[in-house]
Amino acid sequence: SASDVGTPKRTKEIIAKYGFSFKKSLGQNFLIDRNVLNNIVAAAGLDESKGALEIGPGIGALTGRLAETAGRVTAIEIDQRLIPILDDLFAEQGHVTVIHGDVLKIDLQELFRSQFEGLSGVSVVANLPYYVTTPILMKLLEERLPLENIVVMIQKEVAQRMAAKPGGKEYGSLSVAVQYYCVPELVCTVPHTVFIPQPNVDSAVIKLTVREKPAVDVPDEAFFFRVVQASFAQRRKTLANNLTAFVGKENREALGGILGGIGIDPGRRGETLSLEEFARLSRALLEAKL
Ligand code: SAM
Repeated sequence: SASDVGTPKRTKEIIAKYGFSFKKSLGQNFLIDRNVLNNIVAAAGLDESKGALEIGPGIGALTGRLAETAGRVTAIEIDQRLIPILDDLFAEQGHVTVIHGDVLKIDLQELFRSQFEGLSGVSVVANLPYYVTTPILMKLLEERLPLENIVVMIQKEVAQRMAAKPGGKEYGSLSVAVQYYCVPELVCTVPHTVFIPQPNVDSAVIKLTVREKPAVDVPDEAFFFRVVQASFAQRRKTLANNLTAFVGKENREALGGILGGIGIDPGRRGETLSLEEFARLSRALLEAKL
């Protein structure tokens, strides 16, 4: 169909027709592989009753596939030059809306109310611009949008950090933040060759199934995340040393007592703590007012 653009031939045709030139600064690497596009859309589990929010549609490779599957598709694109192209491609498809804007600045709560009301679920599906992957995902999660899942193409190393379990060198504050809100699952890794132009990094598709409530119960979320950050501040240091920098030298002894009291060895490193242990730790520090 006219909106089926995710092939090398069609991509080159559209680029030539509109005289489009890629902007590296906007992370523009367009998908040209039908299998990868199908895998991304399949992972989201969409149907006619559901909506998809796409971030960065480019020239619409993924948008076209989403339009075939979901009941509503809304795409936010920052690059004004792409808007007339997308408007041409999707003119006949009333259930597709293209919005010109920066996803980091848009009021997403309002967008959800106006675009996705009455649907049985909403997914974010995107081949994300790599330079802003983490800020975009954290905005989606921290705003507690009514999302079922997020299926995104991102840098492979970032996907591995998001899905990492305690104990390895990939596990860090990003793993804890993502797993607090979601259950992560690596869908597939993808070679450079599925993009035009080809990026310099390896890519992977990750699915984040949004939890109905966070993985652990903490009285003060901001404080929980500060404790997590502090625990990973210097990865080669022990938990006791990293946390001493956080609570102050004068509280070092009290800190030792607290860690002992909750059954966490002060000689461990932050990267070995589970979400449950970070929650216990932040609760105890909060109660002790350290
Ligand atoms: N979805 C297309 C595809 O898979 O072929 C394009 C993906 S490309 C990796 C990322 C897209 O995000 C580009 O079209 C870029 O202009 C857009 N973009 C970059 N920063 C953005 C932002 N802050 N808000 C919305 N779109 C953005």
